[in-house]
Amino acid sequence: MSLLPGQMMQMPLLISSLITHAARHSGDVEIVSRRVEGDLHRYTWAEAELRARKLAQALARLGCQAGDRVGTLAWNGYRHLEIYYGTSGSGLLCHTVNPRLFPQQIAWIINDAADRILCFDLNLLPLVEQIAADCRTVQHFVLLAGRAQLPDQTTIPGLLCYEDMVAAEDGDMTWPTFDETTAAGICYTSGTTGDPKGAVYSHRSTVLHSYAAAMPDAMNLSARDVVLPVVPMFHVNAWGLPYATAMVGCKVVFPGPHLDGKSLYELFEAEQVTFSAGVPTVWMGLLAHMQTHQLKFSSFRCTVIGGAACPASMIDTLVDDFGVEVIHAWGMTELSPLGTLSRLRGKHLGLPKDEQRRLMAKQGKAPYGIDLRIVDGAGAPLPWDGKAAGELMVKGHWVISDYFRTPKSPLQDGWFPTGDVATIDGDGFMQITDRSKDVIKSGGEWISSIALENLAVGHPAVQQAAVISVAHPQWGERPLLTVVLKPGAAVTREALLAFYEGKVPNWQVPNDVIFLPELPQTATGKIQKLRLREAFRNHQWSQPG
Ligand code: ADP
Repeated sequence: MSLLPGQMMQMPLLISSLITHAARHSGDVEIVSRRVEGDLHRYTWAEAELRARKLAQALARLGCQAGDRVGTLAWNGYRHLEIYYGTSGSGLLCHTVNPRLFPQQIAWIINDAADRILCFDLNLLPLVEQIAADCRTVQHFVLLAGRAQLPDQTTIPGLLCYEDMVAAEDGDMTWPTFDETTAAGICYTSGTTGDPKGAVYSHRSTVLHSYAAAMPDAMNLSARDVVLPVVPMFHVNAWGLPYATAMVGCKVVFPGPHLDGKSLYELFEAEQVTFSAGVPTVWMGLLAHMQTHQLKFSSFRCTVIGGAACPASMIDTLVDDFGVEVIHAWGMTELSPLGTLSRLRGKHLGLPKDEQRRLMAKQGKAPYGIDLRIVDGAGAPLPWDGKAAGELMVKGHWVISDYFRTPKSPLQDGWFPTGDVATIDGDGFMQITDRSKDVIKSGGEWISSIALENLAVGHPAVQQAAVISVAHPQWGERPLLTVVLKPGAAVTREALLAFYEGKVPNWQVPNDVIFLPELPQTATGKIQKLRLREAFRNHQWSQPG
């Protein structure tokens, strides 16, 4: 077959093109950051791009070469944004590391990625002092601060000052052009299900992911938005927002390290934020603060909630009490992270509110660029009937094909196995019912722990809930409900179990309830079911049946 070649320009999809576009076409649009130092910093996309170029020059001066990894331990802020672009833009890899992990895990990840430079925020100095000697590949440690904040004494050898590095350069460089499949950054999975593994994103995958994220049936971002990413820049690149906001050229507000309800609310109002994104636990804190002080939002219109299942009751509160649209989304580190988003279709607009909410609480539909399927234990595809549950498999432009430095590809038949168990309905709405490791198998039937948790947090006394599977002499496994009550609230075991009546089949109601002061959390704010399962492995069921 002789094909006729198209006659269009070939421009590689490079991350530098996002920030040069923002600087040229939305150069005066603001980026506002709550700094670790406590004050607010303001500048523009044009200034961010210039400083990213200066940083690229400074990194080259330190000896960085194409393919080198630059690690970050930093909160959401403008200097972190400059590192995103200064590294990837010049052929280096941006490696964001989660400062909430245990110090040994952080050092392990930095060594695995072989980071050559480590940049970190001022309030993380004690952490870096603790791990510096173990970070064997790091040649330079860079404090993300001005000269005045440099400590008089530190155990970190040759500590560099970020502002000095940037100030020493003239910005007289042009972003290099190279193949769009070149590596741009690396993120490690949070290790909920084993050792952390590196996902290496390319320029192409990152730019295509940004296009998809900004689309109307995804996050629906525009130049009229003011975006405050609550999701940290070390949690799968703040779900792509540092790139997508440059693409649309909107104002960005970075909240720094303080993500409590009061700090967030003040920033939302002062900067007239319209759009945000974060895990469910963050919204719990913000909503509790607003309810206690009877506050309302004046500009906030929409938020993405993902990373863990968003309880239906949270959607109701945000939409009905605060007028904020909720986009429930599902993703993974391995997917850059966007996999699905729950947005209603035209045909759903006439549905009764309850049915619309039922759809919104699902994890949603795949945007163009991602394909989904569910398979049974033998790998055979299951029907899209909203009932059959099987392992969720994905493929797409921004899904990994391999893990960093791991010889065996995780793909099966060209699909990436997510480890999540899901149903897909006739309209393509995917719903996660469990993780394969969290699923409860009672008398041969699967019970969805997520469905039981969502119902429990709908009870007015319950703040947080996790349902785990515990061995049972008769049924193999049975669900055990663990809960944290709201401050000052009280409810009995019997009343909580009775709350399930009529909402799920009787055989799915948990057998017991454990009241806890708090639930163990991972570094990205997800409940650590593994630790709960370990703690209650030998739980004695009060009733044998
Ligand atoms: P880890 O798998 O190590 O926790 P990720 O941050 O990549 O790291 O988490 C991805 C996982 O988080 C998914 O596989 C899924 O189990 C869970 N998850 C993400 N978003 C949702 C959601 N909206 N609903 C339910 N689970 C979710």
